[in-house]
Amino acid sequence: MTVVFLITPQDRADAGLDFDALLTPVHSDAAALSVFDAGAARGDGVFETIGVNAGSARKPGPHLARLAASARIMDLPEPHTEQWMHAIKRVVGLMDPHRGGVIRLVITRGTPQSSPTCWITGQESPADVREREDGVSVVLLDRGWPIDIAERAPWMLAGAKTLSYAPNMAALREANRRGADDVVFTSLEGYALEGPTSSLIIRIGRRLVTPTSGDGNLPGTTQQELFDWAEHNGFSTQSRRVRADEVRQADAAWLVSSVRLVVPITAVDGHLMQRDAALSARMNDHLLTLG
Ligand code: PLP
Repeated sequence: MTVVFLITPQDRADAGLDFDALLTPVHSDAAALSVFDAGAARGDGVFETIGVNAGSARKPGPHLARLAASARIMDLPEPHTEQWMHAIKRVVGLMDPHRGGVIRLVITRGTPQSSPTCWITGQESPADVREREDGVSVVLLDRGWPIDIAERAPWMLAGAKTLSYAPNMAALREANRRGADDVVFTSLEGYALEGPTSSLIIRIGRRLVTPTSGDGNLPGTTQQELFDWAEHNGFSTQSRRVRADEVRQADAAWLVSSVRLVVPITAVDGHLMQRDAALSARMNDHLLTLG
């Protein structure tokens, strides 16, 4: 089942609102968006994707914080966190409590006549555990960005989760053309960055390392959750610049994200990677227990 609500956005400062009255249910096949909406016409907006364990959204708080940060970078009005949290709870309440799924939050700049357009969707999906066990092969693809893109060219919106994912999808198609499943982007200087829809984590001995989010990467909620977990489970963690050859030489490497969760990297540009199936399983088990 798919659940869709349009949301009338409220000012962040407003308190004591009837949030239910601001949710408009929409049939998933119904026309609900103007063709002039900036989100549809230009990808001018922000979004979040939250995983659903049976019966509860996985850690919505960090997603709402990142939605607000993305809106700030995009000069969009800051979302009313309590209003969005209420909408998430309503959607989860309508989904099958025995199945996992995905919630999407979207804010677009709307039309020239309107305030931002906001909506939320909930979709039940059978968890695709195959990639979590089989892993993915990746190619390193140049993102064409210097490592200091965020300061040098803030209008590129690096670090915001914008709706403009066409280059990310093009990178995935390029990976497929090269016979691989996924991508790790690299900076102009040859640093490893992130995947088109995921953060990168590598293991070097008992240390987990991820490329710095300030270097144009999205601050990953899954990566942060795993680092918090790892610190309590015998690992140290580090966020720093990672050279591309460090990925190939790592004791294990993963792409991590909110819905796919922890996916081992099996090969980088055809070079077979070491794997750590036991740690992959522990990290996925941890994420699947979050509410
Ligand atoms: N980096 C990019 C570009 C992404 O699109 C995503 C997720 O969609 C991530 C990283 C991982 O973020 P999260 O773990 O919060 O899903």
